[in-house]
Amino acid sequence: MRVTPRYRRVVLKASGEALMGDQGFGIDVSVVDRIAADIAEARALGVEVGVVIGGGNIFRGVAVASKGGDRVTGDHMGMLATVINSLALRTSLVKIGVDAVVLSAVAMPELCESFSQRQAMSYMNQGKVVLFAGGTGNPFFTTDSAAALRAAEIGADGLFKGTQVDGVYSADPRKDSNAVRYEHITHDQVMREGLGIMDTAAIALARENHIPIIVFSIHEEGGFGAILKGSGRCTMVDDGAATEPAKP
Ligand code: UDP
Repeated sequence: MRVTPRYRRVVLKASGEALMGDQGFGIDVSVVDRIAADIAEARALGVEVGVVIGGGNIFRGVAVASKGGDRVTGDHMGMLATVINSLALRTSLVKIGVDAVVLSAVAMPELCESFSQRQAMSYMNQGKVVLFAGGTGNPFFTTDSAAALRAAEIGADGLFKGTQVDGVYSADPRKDSNAVRYEHITHDQVMREGLGIMDTAAIALARENHIPIIVFSIHEEGGFGAILKGSGRCTMVDDGAATEPAKP
């Protein structure tokens, strides 16, 4: 039986660290292949998918700044790292027959196309997975903000934030056995309580544009597809009424 997905067009945000597996640095191709398979499942459901991948597995601008270097140059290096990751994911997608294109916020025409909202919409309408590389194209921003920005630009009805755990918890579940997972919270609550799921700029942008954020585990095979179909473990962050934490 064909399941009608709950979403029409989404942006998936995964941190660069999600791609490195157990390696501690760089890209573990088997992990990228697995994430590509989850995206393929979403496409098979008919959901249009845009993707923003971070760069933290390769480089973060603050690493330069913390050693007295120039933050802006460091951030440029971080943005380049996101392009490397996006090219890796495109390769994995194409390998399994998913049409995918990288659009970069920083022009590098020999490697990939430059981002424009119109081009992104056109590719998505054609059913291609669009990988938004280069973050926002500006220093002092993050790929979380880029993901919220692109979600707003393409009119996404969900921003999927893939994390290390399966939702937003009242405390770090890896450190506190009493931590409980929220089923449903609001953008306001996330900002008020400083729940560090995405940076403040990203949450504010999502709130202003009424985009729900779905926090889920990027490591759970099939997890993305399950949530798109209306099941699966996640925390829903939206404008609606917040509820008590769910039992884990
Ligand atoms: N970055 C930036 N502007 C952006 C997005 C990213 O300067 O719009 C740089 C910044 O240095 C950041 C790095 O790229 O540290 C990697 O992005 P991020 O830290 O968001 O990656 P993640 O933590 O998701 O792997």
